[in-house]
Amino acid sequence: MEVLIRYGELFIKSEPVKRIYEKKLVENIKRSLKENGIEFKIYRKRGRAFITSEKIKEVCEMLKNIPGITSFSPCYHLQTSDLRKIKNFVKKNYEKWIKKRQTFAVRAQRVGKHKFTSKDVENEVGKVVDRKVNLKNPDVTIGIEIRDNDTYIFTEKIRGIGGLPVSASGKVLALLSGGIDSPVASFLMMKRGCKVDFIHFHSFPLVSKKSIEKVKELIKILNKFQNKSKLYLIPFADIQTEIKTKIEARYRIVFYRRFMLKISEEVAKKENAKALVTGDSLGQVSSQTLENIFSISEAVKIPIFRPLIGLDKEEIVSLAKKIGTYEISIKPQEDCCTLFIPKHPTTKAKIEIVKKLEKKLAMKKLIKNAIKKAEVLII
Ligand code: ATP
Ligand code: MG
Repeated sequence: MEVLIRYGELFIKSEPVKRIYEKKLVENIKRSLKENGIEFKIYRKRGRAFITSEKIKEVCEMLKNIPGITSFSPCYHLQTSDLRKIKNFVKKNYEKWIKKRQTFAVRAQRVGKHKFTSKDVENEVGKVVDRKVNLKNPDVTIGIEIRDNDTYIFTEKIRGIGGLPVSASGKVLALLSGGIDSPVASFLMMKRGCKVDFIHFHSFPLVSKKSIEKVKELIKILNKFQNKSKLYLIPFADIQTEIKTKIEARYRIVFYRRFMLKISEEVAKKENAKALVTGDSLGQVSSQTLENIFSISEAVKIPIFRPLIGLDKEEIVSLAKKIGTYEISIKPQEDCCTLFIPKHPTTKAKIEIVKKLEKKLAMKKLIKNAIKKAEVLII
């Protein structure tokens, strides 16, 4: 058997762009299957990709997680477009696909020159199936795609995650905290075709290394979508201590975030990542009020993407469960961001005050040091 892969959204691009995207998608599929030790062959034909393999089930499991695929179908491949032969094949096999009491419909599509229309195929093939027809709401749909001299027949259409192939859009750097939100934000960027590198700020030795372990586990889950990831671990304890010494408690969280962004901007430059990604959702916590987002973002020039900005917590949680990161995210951790932070930090950090306070800090030196001590992992 084979698997027929559809990648709808790619059709809206111009021809040359489409070709690049198709190539990326095929590369990503190949890498994913190879990493998992699955033997296969893949080929492209007229806006579709096809995989042949002995392990169709495993292949399908992998395809569910590859951005850029709209849907796919395990299928039979007949090397003919002879309508008689197609009919014969369906006649021989339909009892395996459709139970006695079930209803069915035939849906055909055609690309290339043939002596018949798609409608003819549906009518002719329908005749050899001894089951009740139900065009509106069939129990089983027999799909038939005829592409030049090849025919693909299937009864299952499995949804992919859609979006664009990873790397087709370029690279971004995601700030990953170990919480619920940032892994979801990272996933959404992968879905829009970004290769995502990660950066995590930890407060070891002020707290344990638990958050680091958590972040590594989260990345292993997120690797379903992009195979391998690069992770920057940045020691943040010195910076927090400096902020604690020099900045009044209400404003500390804003400075934590500004430092995180500044360091991330430097790392992004080094990695040729074109944007930062965070899990902010407007108004969710005090550092995510509009006013604070303004005062925090002002620290850097690089674009900051916040794909969760308009989502409610419930919506984010439901996505996290779907992706498979939720269970890890809710494990307890000593959050570096709650260190030295009062119960009621300011929700309205005025940028003029922030800039004035910032002069007290040895920003450049602290940033340089933190980056120098960074640990870089490939997971
Ligand atoms: P999350 O669930 O992603 O931790 P949150 O709701 O806890 O988010 P905050 O703690 O305010 O919100 O963090 C907002 C965003 O800042 C996070 O989504 C993440 O992108 C980034 N961030 C916070 N702490 C860290 C950290 N220690 N390392 C890297 N990024 C961080
Ligand atoms: Mg957090």
